[in-house]
Amino acid sequence: MHPKPLSDRTVFIPRMPTANSRAVAAAFRGHGIRAKITPASDSRTLELGQAHSSGEECYPEIITLGDFLRVLVDDGFAPSDVAFLMPTSSGPCRFGQYAHYIRVVLDRNGFGDALIISPTSSDAYEGMGDGSKGLNRSTWWGIVSADLLTAQLLRTRPYEMQRGKSDECFEEALSRVCAVLENPARTGELSAVADALRWGRDRLRSVEKRDETRPLIGVVGEIFCRNNEFTNMAFIRLLEGHGAEAWLTGLREWIHYSNREDELRLRRKKSLVSPERLRSRVRHWVQEGDAAKLEEIFSVDLRDRPEPTHMKDLLTLGEPYLPSDGALGEMVLSVSRVVYLHHHGVSGVVDISPFTCMNAIVAEAIYPTLTRDLDGLPIRTFYFDGTQGTLDRDIGVFLELARSYERLRALAGSTAESAVGLVGT
Ligand code: SF4
Repeated sequence: MHPKPLSDRTVFIPRMPTANSRAVAAAFRGHGIRAKITPASDSRTLELGQAHSSGEECYPEIITLGDFLRVLVDDGFAPSDVAFLMPTSSGPCRFGQYAHYIRVVLDRNGFGDALIISPTSSDAYEGMGDGSKGLNRSTWWGIVSADLLTAQLLRTRPYEMQRGKSDECFEEALSRVCAVLENPARTGELSAVADALRWGRDRLRSVEKRDETRPLIGVVGEIFCRNNEFTNMAFIRLLEGHGAEAWLTGLREWIHYSNREDELRLRRKKSLVSPERLRSRVRHWVQEGDAAKLEEIFSVDLRDRPEPTHMKDLLTLGEPYLPSDGALGEMVLSVSRVVYLHHHGVSGVVDISPFTCMNAIVAEAIYPTLTRDLDGLPIRTFYFDGTQGTLDRDIGVFLELARSYERLRALAGSTAESAVGLVGT
């Protein structure tokens, strides 16, 4: 018997983060695929995920596995009615094994009919568009839109006069974008997504804010952990509670990076004019063009939170520490992003990663050198495995370091100014 096609199943998408995953699910629905995000993670997620793991797996794998199992065990979906989206990668760490491992667990537990969809970073997730023309493109619009709205939310929430107002406006804004993405009549209309995004930007702009200066803290690290609120124990909200503003690295950074790796892979194959290379170039070019149009909507609101224009520019910053042609994946991005964030005036950087994450361990080994070279910038890795009892206190301690760094930077700035004044007299 043939397995049920995707069109007859519900596709479950892990929350990475919730906003981006909701937008991706909406784009899927707009192309006729029933799609939902996985249920909000809770203690049951951990119970199921840990029961079917050996303890050697990364924390994000336990969370995604636990949430997939909840759909089958607790929510009663028949395996033949569901598909789970589990992206993969051929990079240097365990991420490439997640989809295979989840397959084994599902098979062993009688859920063999459940499908796993695994778009891969090896072809810059081109497989996302299989079987439905345009899906790849509107998925990209969803990812960029959610990134932009999240950046504006983080720019707004720490200063809101009325508690909860920013989250409320963000929810309305995101829902408006999702409504466009899931409307089959508007599929393929970038201008409709842009209109919804403009509306959302204005909703967030309408939030009344206090005039206040807060330390700006850059957030880098493992993509799932830094983006999934359950996994990182709502780290950014805790940071805001301690008086900081967060500058979170968006999801689209990874797609731009995968695009670049794809380009290099094809170049290494010396496929100068192959159809594959041409297709890849066109896709990247279209993605960059679409992202630029959506980013333009926030050119005023996010002018001091810019994204690097090209991935190459970002990686060049990390080159002296971790050359991007000698290392791969998130370790390169985290190290490069720290330098980028320093150039843009942050008072500290936190790396949010799972306990035993290979990428984080390598990056953490480089951070002391970065601190030395970047005027003493405080950088700290926060590891997560669900057992962080002292997180709130640790964030408080880190922010004290960030505030001291700010004071010293201000002092150095005023000393330099007086020196210039003396020279001028
Ligand atoms: S990035 Fe880190 S946490 Fe994620 S799979 Fe790789 S080693 Fe595990």
